[in-house]
Amino acid sequence: MADFPTRARAVVIGGGIVGCSTAYHLAREGWGDTVLVESGQLSSGSTWHAAGLVGQLRNNANITQLLGHSVEIYGRLEAETGQATGWKMNGGLRLACTPDRWTEVRRQATMARSFGLEMELLSASEALKLWPIMDASDVVGAAFLPTDGQANPTDITQALARGARGQGVKIFEDTHVTGIEVKDGRVGAVITGRGRIECEIVVNCAGQWANEIGRMAGVTVPLVSVQHQYLITEPIDGVPRDLPTLRDPDRLTYYKEEVGGLVMGGYEPNPIAWADDGIPDGFHFSLLDENWDHFEPMMEQALGRVPALQTAGIKQLVNGPESFTPDGNFILGEAPECVGFFVGAGFNAFGIAAGGGAGKALAEWIAGGQPPYDLWAVDIRRFGQPHGDIGWVRTRTMELYAKHYTIAWPSEEHASGRPLRCSPLYDRLKARGACFGEKLGWERPNWFAPDGVEPRDEYGFGRQNWFAPVGEEHRAVRERVGLFDQSSFAKFMVEGRDAETALSWICANNIDRPPGRLVYTQMLNANGGIECDLTVARLAADRFYITTGTGFATHDFAWIGANIPAGLDARLTDVSAANAVLSLMGPKARDVLAAVCDDDVTSEGFAFGAVREINIGGAPVTALRITYVGELGWELHMPVAHAADVYDRLMAAGAAHGIANTGYRAIETLRLEKGYRAWGADIGPDYTPLEAGLGWAVKLKSNVAFLGREALAGQTETGVDKLLAGFTIADSAVVLLGRETIYRNGERVGWLTSGGWGYTVAKNIGYGYVRNGAGIDRDYVMSGNYELEVATERVPCEVHMDPLYDPKMERIKA
Ligand SMILES: Cc1cc2nc3c(=O)[nH]c(=O)nc-3n(C[C@H](O)[C@H](O)[C@H](O)COP(=O)(O)OP(=O)(O)OC[C@H]3O[C@@H](n4cnc5c(N)ncnc54)[C@H](O)[C@@H]3O)c2cc1C
Repeated sequence: MADFPTRARAVVIGGGIVGCSTAYHLAREGWGDTVLVESGQLSSGSTWHAAGLVGQLRNNANITQLLGHSVEIYGRLEAETGQATGWKMNGGLRLACTPDRWTEVRRQATMARSFGLEMELLSASEALKLWPIMDASDVVGAAFLPTDGQANPTDITQALARGARGQGVKIFEDTHVTGIEVKDGRVGAVITGRGRIECEIVVNCAGQWANEIGRMAGVTVPLVSVQHQYLITEPIDGVPRDLPTLRDPDRLTYYKEEVGGLVMGGYEPNPIAWADDGIPDGFHFSLLDENWDHFEPMMEQALGRVPALQTAGIKQLVNGPESFTPDGNFILGEAPECVGFFVGAGFNAFGIAAGGGAGKALAEWIAGGQPPYDLWAVDIRRFGQPHGDIGWVRTRTMELYAKHYTIAWPSEEHASGRPLRCSPLYDRLKARGACFGEKLGWERPNWFAPDGVEPRDEYGFGRQNWFAPVGEEHRAVRERVGLFDQSSFAKFMVEGRDAETALSWICANNIDRPPGRLVYTQMLNANGGIECDLTVARLAADRFYITTGTGFATHDFAWIGANIPAGLDARLTDVSAANAVLSLMGPKARDVLAAVCDDDVTSEGFAFGAVREINIGGAPVTALRITYVGELGWELHMPVAHAADVYDRLMAAGAAHGIANTGYRAIETLRLEKGYRAWGADIGPDYTPLEAGLGWAVKLKSNVAFLGREALAGQTETGVDKLLAGFTIADSAVVLLGRETIYRNGERVGWLTSGGWGYTVAKNIGYGYVRNGAGIDRDYVMSGNYELEVATERVPCEVHMDPLYDPKMERIKA
């Protein structure tokens, strides 16, 4: 005990692959003063029993890059540490056995190309040559990723631990964490069975125990344990040592070579949760009982694929619990509830594949004070209120587990745990045919089914069943008027003597306008990357009202809260639940609004960019003259209790003008035509306003200091190396979904960040960054000949740098 430290800069909790990778990379970042504590032995949690497949392709460029880092790390670790890792880069094969799956695989191949990852498409007979022991009679096609591989999870973990120790990290096994001290919202120390360690940073890499560790610091880590099984066979004739890994999603199974035999596992459609009441003490190097009944459907599928399994000897059926999350992605980053408390957990059965890169990203995040690149897809701030309920988390996680190998349909919604959070208009909209989607627990109308049509999505890779009804909604907004229920918007208040000073520092645009004005702005990080994209309405000299996207509630609140300079009198509160929002949009919006209130809503009396209190039938309504759909319109924010009455009044008054109920899918197509950027797709921390074509919304010409200013000023000197551009394809048989590859003069220069159909311009529309290392400007973008690769086919397209619809804003400012 004498050598047990009482102080460390960082304490990593958990000695699985993720904890060891984080400690190793922290040391590489110069944080050798790190202690790792593990309650059992290294790798004794979920890591030791992992099958060890290492695949890389995800539907997000940066997560694919992160997995690529794992491959790069695993490739050098043995030579670097002298510890064997079992790493083999034998490639990964993915089968497609239905036409839809083949479309998905071809779209994935294009996406891989977009992200710079090699992925070859193969015929069934070519796939058979790589995997000779399979029956390929039902295979339509296959994809091969030559840089995928497999590793021995325990050995990799030991190698990472050795590498960490070599750089000063102290590792203590048999050291159980029992508490975390938090003071003034910041971590202070970790309490273990061996003593207390004071520290600046705690990293929760406790796998399926991460929820329990999170609770010690008041942090929500939404994950649950689910049983996951795979089979290990005796050696099988014809299984070469360099057999690629195989994923056979139509049969829900995966395979890898092991000691001349096979490992075969899968994702059951009826998963079994584990440890609902807590993980038993001392669960180290432990497995659950074999469950052959549950595995049998997988086995039947596998026997069809690999006939040799019928006679192969079975060594073991491994049933190991692993942590899964409600959206199938892992959880990384600093918890919004507690400064200095980081999480790296919830790896959904790809923690071996992700461990190397995730530990690297997390360590760089900790050392650098911000993520090394946009990690929104896995950021802990993507969660919110519903995730505080572990029962809800379990329900949704089970659905996602069961969907692990199902086709990921465009626009797919999940069904479980719904409805959870409903706007006051939910029942009304449902009665009018709303087909709801879900975002952060909120039910939101995606589209409205016409009379006689069932409000239910029918998925496919072509135009889906909502395509025509959404077209009608789109036209209603362009030609008449539409009413959107956007009550799920996140809304914050910033109040106090110094509210303006605080927001002037955090916002890139000039928010120092008189009360009654409203500003669209980004909030930037120190590199000039876009952290938030929202509107700020000044209600009074010392009162600002912020509106941002539903899904960004936790993230944006945390960002603003963390960046209000210390000592200022500026209080941030979340008022999302207090206000409902109805957006009235379209050329007839003014007529409808005028009919329900006595306030002046003329162009002179209520100009674009103004915010006013108006009264609709006794309801105090904060009306914001702004639009995200490119038409004259107002966002009407009102106390929840008044929403139903205001809705009824607007619909009644709108009847004479052909008002329509309109939903989120219409918003998407309308904003694509207008070129409005979507955070999390077209813009985010990896892109600056200058790259995103949003320089006009930045107060660079003023003398006011703001976060990110220096980086942007630097960019105005050096120029940029990527620019967001629009692309159109008139052929309606093509379907753009985002992530299609952009070619300029035959060379790959980027990928689409969003894609869809514009009903008014009658074209496919995509946005994406055109990159050129030597620098880029508008002329460069406009001078190229462009093609988009869609599901491996190259299609000529037109390039645009201006909005496709109403570029002069005439309709909005009417
Ligand atoms: C059957 C099965 C097959 C799998 N196959 C693959 C695969 O082929 N490829 C792949 O990429 N992934 C696979 N996985 C997933 C992989 O095993 C996990 O994602 C990965 O091991 C997670 O690593 P971790 O470090 O997050 O968690 P763990 O390895 O569980 O590490 C967490 C550690 O925290 C420790 N801990 C918990 N509480 C405390 C405390 N209070 N104090 C101190 N320490 C504590 C635990 O003892 C544990 O060692 C598979 C999983 C299963 C179950």
